[in-house]
Amino acid sequence: PEMDEKLKERIANHPCYSEEAHHHYARMHVAVAPACNIQCNYCNRKYDCANESRPGVVSELLTPEEAAHKVLVIAGKIPQMTVLGIAGPGDPLANPEKTFRTFELIADKAPDIKLCLSTNGLMLPEYIDRIKQLNIDHVTITLNTIDPEIGAQIYSWVHYKRKRYKGVEGAKILLEKQMEGLQALKEADILCKVNSVMIPGVNDKHLVEVNKAIREKGAFLHNIMPLISAPEHGTHFGLTGQRGPTGKELKEVQDNCAGNMKMMRHCRQCRADAVGLLGEDRSQEFTKDKFLEMSPEYNL
Ligand code: SF4
Ligand code: SF4
Repeated sequence: PEMDEKLKERIANHPCYSEEAHHHYARMHVAVAPACNIQCNYCNRKYDCANESRPGVVSELLTPEEAAHKVLVIAGKIPQMTVLGIAGPGDPLANPEKTFRTFELIADKAPDIKLCLSTNGLMLPEYIDRIKQLNIDHVTITLNTIDPEIGAQIYSWVHYKRKRYKGVEGAKILLEKQMEGLQALKEADILCKVNSVMIPGVNDKHLVEVNKAIREKGAFLHNIMPLISAPEHGTHFGLTGQRGPTGKELKEVQDNCAGNMKMMRHCRQCRADAVGLLGEDRSQEFTKDKFLEMSPEYNL
């Protein structure tokens, strides 16, 4: 199905959301958020959050001031830079001070850059007002299931309000907050994309239902990503031999959902410190040593 014109206009210069834009506009991520509040079985904390990134990648952690400095340097060098996202290396909303401080600095110094955020959704209802206040216009929630029994196979624990919940109990809390978060974004008129990690034998058959639920809650784009699981990543799934989907299986599920809403098929599962057009990775040109040297005068 086609998107309506108003929506098209809103995402016209967003490389992740518009297939046409991804050849012309660039995005960057800054890695300022190390902590996480849940444990996904496909994640190994030594690497970037697997909800938005490629497993096995380690991004260079920055302070909010360093991150804002980096954004200014890069915006000066790459004029097509339109979007700044925070996507890790942990969950941005498990690091609210660092995440929001970074957004504040950038909104202040580079107000033309659009801001986006990816999260597992656990703390989304809690911070929706902050998100609105800061004019963040896109949020990505990784939502892998709407069934707590399936959730218990994907999440080993959820840490919520100073307590750790395991199994179905933990999954229930997470799934509830994700749904509340979706609803809150809709009410705030903030664009919401949903990522789902496709895990064969766990949630693959169930993703059509997930698609239906998120559509009803107003998400505008669904990005079904393959589980990338290898023993060397040391993830729970990797160690139990859980495989990822084949390209054919992935496409089949995407096609099954595509009758209902727009599917994203060009996601590159970028690093938490990605820089550049979607097909390219220029993160190594802008490591901390390098961007500090490029323009020490920005020192915030
Ligand atoms: Fe890892 Fe991201 Fe899941 Fe947290 S939300 S456990 S960082 S994949
Ligand atoms: Fe865009 Fe996907 Fe990369 Fe995020 S991970 S910046 S949605 S292409």
